[in-house]
Formats: sequence, structure tokens, C-alpha cells
Amino acid sequence: MQQEHYKIAILSRNKSLYSTKRLIETIENKGHEAIVLDHLKCDIVIEQDKPSIYYKGERIKGIDAVIPRIGASVTFYGAAVVRQFEMMNIPTAVESQALVRSRDKLRSLQILARANVGMPKTVFTNYSKEVKKIIDSVGGAPLIVKLLEGTQGYGVVLAPTKKAAESIIEAFHSMKARVIVQEFIEEAKGADIRAFVIDNKVVGAMKRQGKEGEFRSNLHQGGTGELIKLTKEERQVALTAAKAMGLSVAGVDMLQSERGPLVLEVNSSPGLEGIEKTTNKDIASELINYVSKLIESTKLRKKKK
Ligand code: ADP
Ligand code: GLU
Repeated sequence: MQQEHYKIAILSRNKSLYSTKRLIETIENKGHEAIVLDHLKCDIVIEQDKPSIYYKGERIKGIDAVIPRIGASVTFYGAAVVRQFEMMNIPTAVESQALVRSRDKLRSLQILARANVGMPKTVFTNYSKEVKKIIDSVGGAPLIVKLLEGTQGYGVVLAPTKKAAESIIEAFHSMKARVIVQEFIEEAKGADIRAFVIDNKVVGAMKRQGKEGEFRSNLHQGGTGELIKLTKEERQVALTAAKAMGLSVAGVDMLQSERGPLVLEVNSSPGLEGIEKTTNKDIASELINYVSKLIESTKLRKKKK
């Protein structure tokens, strides 16, 4: 069979990011064509029956699939661009609706809870004055307070005592910053697990350990990654979480606790650098294989019509 040639667009603001570079290189190595589109430079043209996108003034044509790598701060416009590609019947590695869902921490936790995925006990309030009750409802101190908009471990605070917890929560509230209050999983010992899921399979996993004296394991906070083999339960939880979120490509972060794996977050633009370097696996290739499969099934569907 003749090798198909696809044109795959990566939606990314920066060509020189590790993940973007790896995707370009992998697409080209597989004999396809890669283009990088800055989603903020895409104009969405909405017209009856003729959805289109203009890029720097030119109509985009001939794209077989898109891979969104949309940063948290531009979710709204980025998701609108992805949705426009969907309107044009172009398959995407991450669906717009799942992207938006994953960026809403509260909604994500609600969806995961409904899917029976374990998570640390969490409270979210509308600047409640009942701070003491909130603290008691997650089992007292120590506890974790998280800014709703935080990423990369910024805005995650460990309150060692009830008194400290009260002051922290009140301080955030007085600044009109919304927070979630969460049970502290001490036995995780400053480590978490990242499972990289593609197409309902865990394609790589690592354990991230926070530096000495740090409860946050984020690589941005000086954490280090090491290769691990997931337990059957961890694997299952990661797959269930990704599926519940509607994500075919996801980075599922979990804590190891006495009551099993607890999901913290499901990331819809998981970075490739940490996971590839830690596992020594070609995760980019798995991703492009999945995208090729999406393109093929879309083509089949169009033929049948
Ligand atoms: P971000 O989205 O900013 O990375 P996370 O919720 O993932 O925020 O928290 C950052 C890190 O803090 C996690 O990777 C984990 O190591 C640690 N952490 C977060 N929540 C808890 C918790 N409830 N108990 C123990 N450690 C936690
Ligand atoms: N079908 C629902 C949606 O797409 C599932 C997620 C949810 O419960 O919000 O919004």
C-alpha cells in the first residue's frame, strides 16, 4: 500500500518549544508535512455552510488534522479556533469541548468524581465566611489551598495548622482570588505520578519527586522525574480519568495514597520533554500515529457519505 502523505497543523504559539519541535520533527520523519499555526493569529470566518479560517490574511487549505498545544491563558480563543477546525470536519487530537472542560479545575473534579475516580477531598466555595467549617470538612490541618487559576505549582500552599489555614484562605478571599481547599495527602511524600495517555493506552509514566523539603513535585519547582511502572490500579485510574474528561491525549497527575491513586489533575496539553527524557520513549511518535489513525477514520467516514 502506498504511504499516505498528510498535512498536520500544530496549533502552537512558539515553534521553538521542545514539544512543538518534537512534533514537527516526528511528522516529517514519518513522511508527512508539518505546519505550525499560532492560534492567536487565526481569524475565524463564520458563514453559512462554509466555515473557514484565515491565517495572516490567507485562507487555510488542505489540512488533514490539527494538534492543539494551547496554553492555559489563551484557552478561550484557542478553543474557538479548534472548534472551527471541527466545523470544517478536520479531526483534532484534542476536542475543543474537552480542552475547555480540562481548564476548569472545579468542573474537572466534578466530572472525575462522577466517574468514580479517587481524589483528595476538596471544597470549593464562593468566598464563604464559614472558613472553620471548610477546614473541618477536609479533615482539619495540615491542608492544601490552591488558587483556582494556578499552574506549574504556583499558587499551591500547604497550611500546617488550622490557624495558618484560616489566615491563608481569608487572605486569598480578601484579594477576590478563588481557591479550592483540599485534604493534604502526606503519605505521597512530595511525589506525584504523571501518566501519559494516548488513545486509551498509557504510553509512558514517571514519578516526580519534589526537592528536599518541598511538597510540590512540579518540575518547575525543582522536582525531578524518574521512571516507574504503574500498578494495574494506577493504570486503570489514569485511563478512566482521561476518558471521563473526553481526552484522547492526556497527562493524568495522581498522588499515591493509602487509599489508592488520587487524581489531582488531567492535563490536555501535556508536555513531552519530561516524559520523553525520563522514560526514553518516543511519545511524539505515539501521538502522530494516533493522529494518522484519526485522519484515516475521518477519510473513511467521508467516503461512506
Ligand atoms: P498545578 O496545577 O499548579 O501543578 P497541582 O494541583 O498539580 O497544581 O499541585 C502541585 C503539586 O503539589 C502536585 O504535583 C503535588 O506534588 C502537590 N500537591 C497538590 N495537591 C496536593 C495534595 N492534596 N496533597 C499533597 N500534595 C499535593
Ligand atoms: N456531555 C457533557 C458535556 O460535554 C459531559 C461533561 C459534563 O458533565 O459537563 O458538557
